Amino acid sequence: MAERKLHAIMVAFSFQGHITPFINLALKLASNGCTITFVHTEFVHHMLSKAHHSVEEVDLFSGARKSGLDIRYTTIQDGFPPDYDRILNFNEYWERILRDFPSRVDELVGKIILQSDESLVHFLVADTFYSWPATVAEKYNILNVSSWTEPALVFSIDYHLDLLREKGYFPSTGNQEDIIDFVPGVQSIKSKDLMSYLQDVDIATTIHQIVIKAFEQVKSADFILINTVHELEHETIKALNQKHPTYAIGPINFSTNFTKTVVPKSLWPETDCTEWLNSKPPGSVLYVSFGSLAQSNKHLAEEIAYGLLISEINFIWVLRENTDVLPDGLKNDLRDKGLLVSWCNQNVVISNPAVGGFLTHCGWNSILESIWCGVPMICFPFSVDQPTNRKLVVDDWKIGINLCDGISVTREEVAEKIKELMSGEMENGLRNEIKKIRSVVHKALGRDGSSQRNFDQFLKDLRAKINSTSQDICIR
Ligand code: UDP
Repeated sequence: MAERKLHAIMVAFSFQGHITPFINLALKLASNGCTITFVHTEFVHHMLSKAHHSVEEVDLFSGARKSGLDIRYTTIQDGFPPDYDRILNFNEYWERILRDFPSRVDELVGKIILQSDESLVHFLVADTFYSWPATVAEKYNILNVSSWTEPALVFSIDYHLDLLREKGYFPSTGNQEDIIDFVPGVQSIKSKDLMSYLQDVDIATTIHQIVIKAFEQVKSADFILINTVHELEHETIKALNQKHPTYAIGPINFSTNFTKTVVPKSLWPETDCTEWLNSKPPGSVLYVSFGSLAQSNKHLAEEIAYGLLISEINFIWVLRENTDVLPDGLKNDLRDKGLLVSWCNQNVVISNPAVGGFLTHCGWNSILESIWCGVPMICFPFSVDQPTNRKLVVDDWKIGINLCDGISVTREEVAEKIKELMSGEMENGLRNEIKKIRSVVHKALGRDGSSQRNFDQFLKDLRAKINSTSQDICIR
């Protein structure tokens, strides 16, 4: 009998760090024969099309379809006007999303199912941080696949919030040195290395609500996909697997989509840095970026700026729309030595041989990308999962150094750490370690690598579950 063609509805989250791996997952599923109906919010659609073309593009997946993939595309309103600043007004935005977005998704999923003939939609794929996937999947009787874009370590700690509560660590005791050694699959972690929202004494905030609701929902997911690599986090993944079918499939689609893609993924227009980079000696440039959300204030930006100048190292610094935090004179001095850009194609930049180090806020995508290119890191986490990710990079894998503890840093410390990373003295330590980890990650995506095998296993298990729960046949 011919295998049925599986159809997924995929609803993307609105942050850059979630959009990229989620689109990569859509491309991977479609490359493996699935039909995808991909959903962005209207706002994200607008940002993506504006960043990539001067005119509004109707269908962001047309390039994927031209290359033979069956990806349909639609959008959903998030309930806010286009010019509303969703990052600046984080709390108000997310409170309304928690309240109103589930019914919008419910309505859209119902409509897609009706249009595609009910039997044709088999599963929902949604970002784990959403508060509605289990409810919606259950209502429409489709399987629920949860997509997690951070390390398994972070997932596991969030998954065990009840246990942390029971033991008296959620809310936090406020003692940074507390040792948490009872979370399954997590050997031991200090309170200061937990996610920022687990270091809070007050847990009545929007971010806490988002996490609590998300992890109530994920307990009903049929499958969990994690953008990590089995070999890097095997104990944690093993423990998670005892609760839920969990698959480490990362870094999703790096081997085919790392620097080029047929689908727009970047929320902001990219400055091309290649010509400048090509004029620099191998390994001589420090790339500095704090991702898409972290905001640096005037004082912090100045300390980093002077630190860069004192270090006398070439650099590219992504300041997003924040260049006005620096005085003009300082900006001019910086431009003599490096490039200040508001956004770039990070993968193109860090895969250039001129780049020898990355001063990063430890966003999970940035870490995976840096590993993929074998670029060691200076870690400067701001919030959410970033302190926990730093623990992995600095303490566990030893592929990066710590800039400082806390968020306050001096120009001297910045300069000293930059020199330490870029001087070449670490040739036998850090750079050797990152070479090893890079090779593990590249292997994982190879033909018989763990991520590829896990992805194949996921599709097999998904198919088996669909076969056991429904009888509809759609010939491929
Ligand atoms: N990024 C980019 N250009 C930039 C800065 C960042 O393309 O100038 C991308 C980067 O490659 C990564 C994503 O934005 O894929 C940021 O995700 P990450 O998880 O590192 O941090 P977040 O933005 O979620 O804090």
